[in-house]
Amino acid sequence: MHIHQTTFIKSAVKPADYPPIDLPEIAFAGRSNVGKSSLINVIVERKALVRTSSTPGRTQLINFFQVTGVPFSLNLVDLPGYGYAKVPLDVKRQWGPMMERYLSGRESLKGVVLILDIRRIPSDEDLQMLSWLRSYNRRPIIVLTKCDKVTKNERAKQTAAIAAKLQMDKSQLVHFSALSKDGRDAVWQAIQDAVEA
Ligand code: GDP
Repeated sequence: MHIHQTTFIKSAVKPADYPPIDLPEIAFAGRSNVGKSSLINVIVERKALVRTSSTPGRTQLINFFQVTGVPFSLNLVDLPGYGYAKVPLDVKRQWGPMMERYLSGRESLKGVVLILDIRRIPSDEDLQMLSWLRSYNRRPIIVLTKCDKVTKNERAKQTAAIAAKLQMDKSQLVHFSALSKDGRDAVWQAIQDAVEA
């Protein structure tokens, strides 16, 4: 993927505020601190397009970006991270309905990159997210990040354990590291496959 430009479009909570549909859309989801901002910044080649989501109490918004590139352009959507213990209860309560409204209704949504830490077995919230994607017929793109933090042996072991937990084949999991940038092309290839499906 060759990126020409990435621009912030807007933030939204409810569908009436989403930007108009003009391009295929790919969203990014994951637990707070999993490395979602780092992954997005690496794949669009920007140092700080997206900032970390783990600020307690911050309003949780869906952030829309437009990526102009070759061979394709898309809307990139940064979904609010989940699972941060210190988020106030009222903010937590809004999160589920906000996700379900977006995942159920967004016509241009071609796939959701679900980011998981290679070192951790997926949490109940990760499984909930995957189950929403399956029930709304949204293509999941599972990316295992922070791969630089594990040895080759641990990587193979964790990949098999995570695949089993997700009831997926391990060949469907994409390995990534924001530190080394390994896996950038593989993430883009999976996104392109979803956009063209
Ligand atoms: P977010 O809350 O999901 O957006 O997570 P961030 O992108 O802010 O990352 C959380 C922490 O993990 C930060 O300290 C990052 O520097 C670190 N991090 C993210 N991705 C990687 C990675 O691939 N490798 C390593 N070693 N650290 C990472």
